[in-house]
Amino acid sequence: MDFKLTEEQRALKLAFEDFFREEMKQAPETTGGLEALLASEESWKFHRTLGKKLGEKGWLSRPWPKAYGGCDAPIVEQQLFNEVRAKYRAPGVDPWGVEMFAPTVLIGGTEEQKKRILPPIAKGEVHYCQGWSEPNAGSDLASVRATAFKAGDYYIVNGQKIWTTGAHFADHIFLLLRTDSSSRRNAGLSVFYCQKDLPGIEVRPIQYMNGKHVYNEIFFTDVKIPEANRIGQEGEGWGLTRETMNFERSGIGYFAGAKTVLAELVRYVKNTERDGKALSENPLVRQRLAKLYRDIELGIALSYMGAWTQHKGNAMRAVTMASMAKVYGTELNQRLATAATEAMGLYGQLEQSDWAPMGGSMIDAFQMAIGMNIAAGSSEIQRNLIAWVGLMLPRTK
Ligand SMILES: Cc1cc2nc3c(=O)[nH]c(=O)nc-3n(C[C@H](O)[C@H](O)[C@H](O)COP(=O)(O)OP(=O)(O)OC[C@H]3O[C@@H](n4cnc5c(N)ncnc54)[C@H](O)[C@@H]3O)c2cc1C
Repeated sequence: MDFKLTEEQRALKLAFEDFFREEMKQAPETTGGLEALLASEESWKFHRTLGKKLGEKGWLSRPWPKAYGGCDAPIVEQQLFNEVRAKYRAPGVDPWGVEMFAPTVLIGGTEEQKKRILPPIAKGEVHYCQGWSEPNAGSDLASVRATAFKAGDYYIVNGQKIWTTGAHFADHIFLLLRTDSSSRRNAGLSVFYCQKDLPGIEVRPIQYMNGKHVYNEIFFTDVKIPEANRIGQEGEGWGLTRETMNFERSGIGYFAGAKTVLAELVRYVKNTERDGKALSENPLVRQRLAKLYRDIELGIALSYMGAWTQHKGNAMRAVTMASMAKVYGTELNQRLATAATEAMGLYGQLEQSDWAPMGGSMIDAFQMAIGMNIAAGSSEIQRNLIAWVGLMLPRTK
């Protein structure tokens, strides 16, 4: 692997830097991380506006084929974009539409679907949410029970989805549904998408432990979804969904965002005295921050290695690398938030107060980091994948 950037890549990185530095001057105070994006109308509005600007520049769809609004950019260049965006903790990219559903359509959609579905995503005009999990189907996703049965040109959908991040703001939802009631497990599943405001769809909030509204449950009662909105063949949704899962976990955002937070934390410990001495002189604090710095740099290298592996076409290894980045990145963010709140002592628990260090952002990050270890496949599931696919250890079931 060559760590050096080409002249063109360096120029591109500078263009990304210039854009985000300028745009983030307009960001609402609450911006920073997925949770902040979804927790207020103001943040969501900023996210959508920035998304449209990115769409105009063609930066949402650079790795896609030219025929569908992309520019066939190498995956490594997309990593550069993601790294710079995460450094500025900037919103603007719909993680579900741009990073999950669009690649799924590129793999499994018909020509007509690609032309209909992809351009609005590339332009930042529509936003998606992910309707996979159900109350009894999370890690064991193949056991989903929500159904879609064919009736003429439509499917009639009934059932419940849960933990649907951002469903209260999204325009569309993509779904994994059971199209054959006699099927069990992963056979008889199909992929669909639909507008979120169709008759029969009800979104109810799930309040997170910090009181924020980021997650939802969604109920479907006799919802009519056109057949044209089924992606891939009926009954072949599981294979397609496994492809989507790999797009969900590529990872550099965990590390570049963490680097920005660590820099803020370093400023905090330098400027804060405890028992008459700057916190930055405390050997335990110094050790902890140094280790975090090392771990973040390692994570960034790991993400680039993952992108490089994908670029070289080694799909199986890329799956393992994505799982490694996911488990390492989310656990690292948990360690970072824990280190920060512990260094802050009791002040670390304050959120809305003049006394709250770093604008009260770390207690929020601490609470949100817990869920991130579970979302998009828990750490245990990622470790199972690394064992099976990467180390080729036997499956236990
Ligand atoms: C913050 C957050 C956001 C989310 N956003 C979305 C979303 O937008 N859309 C969506 O569809 N879903 C979403 N989810 C759901 C998420 O994908 C599931 O919660 C996750 O896959 C775990 O499933 P579960 O909750 O059913 O837990 P379970 O599968 O019941 O797992 C419980 C525990 O058992 C462990 N476990 C389970 N099976 C195994 C195994 N085979 N080997 C070892 N350990 C195992 C798990 O790792 C976990 O620790 C979100 C979840 C969270 C927490």
